[in-house]
Amino acid sequence: MEKLETQVVVIGGGITGCSVLRDLSMRGIDAMLFERGNLSEGTTGNFHGLLHSGGRYAVKDQPAAIECIEENRILRRIAPQAIEDTGGFFVTLTDEDEEFLPRFLDGCEACGIPTEVLSADEALQAEPALSPDVRTAVSVPDGSIDGWDICIGSVNAAKELGARVFLFTPVTDILTENSRVVGIRAKDESSGEEYEVRAEYVINATGPWTEQTAALADVYVPMELSPGTMIVLDSRPVQRVINRCRYPTDGDIIVPVGTTIVLGTTSKDIEDPDDYAIEQWEVDVVLTECMEMVPKIEEMGIQRTYAGVRPLYEPPEDLTGEETGRDVSRAHFVLDHEQLDGVGGFVTITGGKVTTARLMAEETVDLVADKMGVDEPCRTDEVPLPTM
Ligand SMILES: Cc1cc2nc3c(=O)[nH]c(=O)nc-3n(C[C@H](O)[C@H](O)[C@H](O)COP(=O)(O)OP(=O)(O)OC[C@H]3O[C@@H](n4cnc5c(N)ncnc54)[C@H](O)[C@@H]3O)c2cc1C
Repeated sequence: MEKLETQVVVIGGGITGCSVLRDLSMRGIDAMLFERGNLSEGTTGNFHGLLHSGGRYAVKDQPAAIECIEENRILRRIAPQAIEDTGGFFVTLTDEDEEFLPRFLDGCEACGIPTEVLSADEALQAEPALSPDVRTAVSVPDGSIDGWDICIGSVNAAKELGARVFLFTPVTDILTENSRVVGIRAKDESSGEEYEVRAEYVINATGPWTEQTAALADVYVPMELSPGTMIVLDSRPVQRVINRCRYPTDGDIIVPVGTTIVLGTTSKDIEDPDDYAIEQWEVDVVLTECMEMVPKIEEMGIQRTYAGVRPLYEPPEDLTGEETGRDVSRAHFVLDHEQLDGVGGFVTITGGKVTTARLMAEETVDLVADKMGVDEPCRTDEVPLPTM
C-alpha cells in the first residue's frame, strides 16, 4: 500500500471533478483526482452536447436558467475551442405551443436570455428542414459543446500546476477519524497498486454515484437518478439547436454535433447507475417528437443510440414524494457534510449541467478554501482553458 499526502482529494473525473481540480490548483491548493474509469466516462461522456442558453429552464426553473446564460457567456470566452456557436431556435408548431410562447418570452426576459422572434417564413429561410407547420421561431444563444475537451483541458491545466490524476483507480474507502474525513483508499485496477491518501478535505464529485460514494463515509445523500436516451443520426439537416417551445418533456431538443444531429431525450427513474438499458419506447418517442420539428428525420439513418444518467439531488426537506425525473431541479448543490451531518472534511458537489460545471466548481472550492484559510480568489471565469 503506497501512502500519499495531499491537501484535497477529488473523487470523480467527470466535468464536475475535473473543473474542481483545476480551480483548486489555480488557487495554489495541492490536489489529487481519483477516477474509477477514464475521464468523462460517466454522464459527461454521455450527455446531449447542448451549451444551454437557459431557454429550456426559463419558465420552470429560473435560477437554473440564469446560471446557464451566465455560464454560457463565460464558456464562450474561456473555452471557444470546445464550442460551436450554432445558435438555437425554440419553435412553435401548435396552438398549445403558441399559448406557451408568451410565458417563454417573459421567462427569457426575466432571466436575461436574449431572444429574437422570427416569423414562419423567416424561420424556414434560416432552417429549410424545419416542418412547414412551424408558426414561430425564437432565436436564443444555444450552442453545441464538447464535454471531453473541457475535462481534458481542465485536467491538463491542473497537472501543469502540480495536481496528480489517477485513472482506472476507484476510491474504495473513505477514512474517518473522530467524525472527520481524513483521506481515502483507492486501488489501481490495472497494476493492482493500492493507495492510502491522507488529505485535509475530500470532495465527492461522482455524479450518479454520489450516494454510493457518500455512503463510504457513512453519510446519506438522497439522489434521484434519471437516465435519458439520445439518438445520433447520419447527417446534419439543421445548423442550429432546435428546441420545441413548450414545457420541457421527452424528445424536444435536436443538437447539431459535427456532421450529425443528436436527438433527445427521455427521463425515467432508476435505482442503480450501473444498471439501466435503453428501451424501445424511448427511441420511438424521441424519433416521433423530433420528426414533428424536422420531418426529414424520418428518412435519415440512425448511427447509434446512447444514454446517460442525470445526477439529481433532492434536498431532504423537499422529499414529498411528488417530484420525480423532469420535476426535480436541474440546479446544483454544494453539500457541506460538516454542517449537514456532523462529518468534517467532506464536501459533495452534485446536480447541475456541463454548462454550469465551472460555477459548481467555483462554489465548491470557495467553501473548501474558506475552511482551509486560503483566500486566493477564483479565476476560472477569466483564465482561458487550454486546448486538449
Ligand atoms: C441524458 C442527459 C442529457 C444531458 N444533456 C446535457 C446538455 O445537453 N447540456 C448540459 O449542459 N448538461 C447536460 N446534461 C447534464 C450533464 O451531462 C451532467 O450534469 C454532468 O455531465 C455531470 O457530470 P459529473 O462530473 O457530475 O458526473 P459524471 O460525468 O458522471 O462523473 C462522475 C465520475 O465519477 C466516477 N466515479 C464514480 N464512483 C467513483 C469512485 N468510487 N471512485 C472514483 N471515481 C468514481 C465515475 O466513473 C464518473 O466518471 C445531461 C445529462 C443527461 C443524463
